[in-house]
Amino acid sequence: MKARITRWLTPPIFFGDEAKTRRAILLNMIINGIIIYLLLLAVSNVLGRKTPSSVILVDILAIFTALLSRYWLQRGNLRRVEVVLSILGFFWITLASATLGTIRTPTTSLYLFMVILFGLLFEIRGILISTIAGSLSVLGLILAENAGLLPPPDYTVTLTQWLTYTGMFGITGSLVLFTLQTTRKALERAEKEIEERMRVERALKNSQVRLLALMESTQQSFVLMDTAANILSFNRVAAQNARAVFDREMHEGDSMLTFVLDRDIAQFNDDFNRSLQGEIITVEKSFVLAVGIEHWFSFIYSPAHTENGNILGVCFNTIDVTENKQAEQALRKLSRAVEQSPSSIVITDLDGIIEYVNPRFTQVTGYSFQESVGQNPRILKTDRTPLGTHRQLWDTITAGKEWHGEFVNRRKDGSYYYEAATISPIIDPKGVTTHYLAVKEDITERKHVEEALKTVNEQLTLRVMEVEKLQADLRKQALHDPLTGLYNRRYLNETLIREIARSERENHHVSLIISDIDHFKKINDTYGHHAGDKFLVEIAQLMRRCARESDFTCRYGGEEFLLVLPGITAAAAERRAEEIRQECAQICVHYEGRDIRATMSFGVATYPIHGREAEEIIMKADKALYTSKSTGRNRVTTWSE
Ligand code: GH3
Ligand code: MG
Ligand code: MG
Repeated sequence: MKARITRWLTPPIFFGDEAKTRRAILLNMIINGIIIYLLLLAVSNVLGRKTPSSVILVDILAIFTALLSRYWLQRGNLRRVEVVLSILGFFWITLASATLGTIRTPTTSLYLFMVILFGLLFEIRGILISTIAGSLSVLGLILAENAGLLPPPDYTVTLTQWLTYTGMFGITGSLVLFTLQTTRKALERAEKEIEERMRVERALKNSQVRLLALMESTQQSFVLMDTAANILSFNRVAAQNARAVFDREMHEGDSMLTFVLDRDIAQFNDDFNRSLQGEIITVEKSFVLAVGIEHWFSFIYSPAHTENGNILGVCFNTIDVTENKQAEQALRKLSRAVEQSPSSIVITDLDGIIEYVNPRFTQVTGYSFQESVGQNPRILKTDRTPLGTHRQLWDTITAGKEWHGEFVNRRKDGSYYYEAATISPIIDPKGVTTHYLAVKEDITERKHVEEALKTVNEQLTLRVMEVEKLQADLRKQALHDPLTGLYNRRYLNETLIREIARSERENHHVSLIISDIDHFKKINDTYGHHAGDKFLVEIAQLMRRCARESDFTCRYGGEEFLLVLPGITAAAAERRAEEIRQECAQICVHYEGRDIRATMSFGVATYPIHGREAEEIIMKADKALYTSKSTGRNRVTTWSE
């Protein structure tokens, strides 16, 4: 109740308009005063005797007018209150004076009060009007009184009226005080509210400044359009873009359509209208800037709303995405290369979990992309890969280095295949390893070929060894006599020529002993060919025994043996032949219980004393042998003319 009375008695405050608030406070006080005064006056008039009913009616009308004014004041309609209050005030004073039937100083002082009031409310204009109105009213009353038109005055004031007046003064004073206090409180509240409003305004301004700074600092362009695509505001980058593409300045109020290329008008209208309907639309377009470089822009149309949610227009936001576009194109190229790579490519995280495999991988392993991702590459692992390979691989790549090596892996169908792999860490710009990359090649074919080649090679080596052995045997056979193992005549011919050539260089002798078993035919005939052979082998051993390391022994004919003695003179050779002859005479070969014996004849010739050519020396030794045979056998003859 108190709050309602307080609110009723409190003047309205007009924020931001101090003059109006002051006028409201003044009017408030006047109305409050009038109401109380009129109420008390009414009480006094009712109590007073002979009060004409017309006076009471005027009082009631006045109270009604004051209450109506009070209502208008609370509604903030100051002008109406001022006008009505002024007119009715004048009217009421004049009517009261006329009703009371006199014009006296107290009455005229009311006109003075009106002049002051008018002056406060309407300033100079109010003073002029009220002065004129007051003057005319007083004149009218005087004229009316003189003409006897006004009723005779009656100033009898009763004791009761006196008491009422006393009470009226006290109550009026208290109410004025109350009004003053409530007004002060209202003013304090108003001040606080004003402060709050100013704070809010400041904050708003700050946020506007920040928003502006934000819009100006970004590399994106912003254009805010109304619903008819007229530019409401735009930022620096938008103006720059307009200059770069259209070589023209952008202004608020311009139609955005003038900043759209003809080729894009239809799409712009479409996107703009859809955005007005509430959609957010993203479009990418390329522009050749005035400097002749193609740039890609991403346009975003988004609906803009007012505070109360009504559509304001469309916010058009542009970002230069040329770099992104180029990076994207490069990336696409790269990813196509990876996709189409003839090598298997696997990307894993740091725990080795597969994040990507290329189509070649799925083709080689039989595991699809979906089956591979999330798995560990050990699904391919077999124990055929040499022990320690995987350990070495992990040690290398976790140390940030590249690893090369081979695996024997197993496909999904269980079959084995060989793989040559290069596995390297993927390192980000900060130097941190983020993934591992494996580039692998199926080398099964190659491995098979290699293995086949290895087998063939081994076989070939064996063959070569066989052939070599065969060749060695053949060589041996070609130069050796199969029965006795001594060199054959062919070897002798080669060796003798070589030895003579060397002796010629070194200037020493080469002697030759030719020997022949005496009557060998008889041994064959008597004991058989086998026995003959056995005897031949025995003689060959004798020859070998008698030869030195530098000598050559060979079977020259059926039962003829030849000794080449490099560096041996004719005399020494003759002595050697003699030794052999004697030893031969001692030989006894047992054959089928019988003893076989034989003697030998010898011929000696020496290079260079008996000849300079191999053939000549052989021929001369042979002739010496012939001499031994013809002179009785079992003897040694050295060539002489
Ligand atoms: P001479 O004292 O004149 O030398 O009489 P000889 O019987 O030994 O006559 P000659 O030297 O002309 O005879 C060679 C004989 O040696 C002929 C042949 O039967 C025999 N002979 C040759 N080669 C072989 C052989 O490999 N094995 C055997 N058992 N006999 C051979
Ligand atoms: Mg012979
Ligand atoms: Mg003989």
